Amino acid sequence: MTDRSQTETDTSCGCKLGRVGDEYELRALDEELIAYWTGDGDEQLSTRQLATYVNQRVLEAALEDAGILPKDGEIENTYRLLTDDDVSSGTRVQTRNELRRDGVEVDQVESDFVSHQTVYNHLTDCLETSLEKPSDDERVERSVDKLGALQNRTAAVTADTVEQLDRNDIIDIGEFNVAVSVTVTCEDCLQEYPIRTLLDQRSCDCRSQSDDAEADA
Ligand SMILES: [Zn+2]
Ligand SMILES: [Zn+2]
Repeated sequence: MTDRSQTETDTSCGCKLGRVGDEYELRALDEELIAYWTGDGDEQLSTRQLATYVNQRVLEAALEDAGILPKDGEIENTYRLLTDDDVSSGTRVQTRNELRRDGVEVDQVESDFVSHQTVYNHLTDCLETSLEKPSDDERVERSVDKLGALQNRTAAVTADTVEQLDRNDIIDIGEFNVAVSVTVTCEDCLQEYPIRTLLDQRSCDCRSQSDDAEADA
């Protein structure tokens, strides 16, 4: 950590992404973020995809600092092992230990990873960029965030209410948990989806089947 301190004065903006970009000397990062986000380049990436991009470059820089020349695909795979929900905690611990053994300050690196919200704020506030027309991915992500916040709020208000009634002996319950789930049902095929699944999958199974059938015809 100490060897990075002298570069901290270069910070171009006050936010975490600006600081991390400076610390790891990620050159031309801002230009790339703007080009990818607005789709000026070949492809358009969402802020979630951009956060992954930034974090993989952070990881790459950290490995190179430790004298490791990453093999093809190694950065992507290591990043997945460190962050993916589907990776077991045992595998994650092993990955961290291996990185530590190789001289990578893995705790520091992980705490330097940025969220898609940080990317969004850096793009819109620090770089004053805006999307004329948000991409489909971007719109889905914003919807996920909005509905997630709403569900968290519903859960919090429900927990408060139950707690208050319990405290006043109006209802009687032990330790409790509140879960809020929203499902959407397709009236055509009666399939139910948790909202998150529907947003990830973007169409009902009955739709994609009929699309396939049309494509086959
Ligand atoms: Zn910033
Ligand atoms: Zn359906």
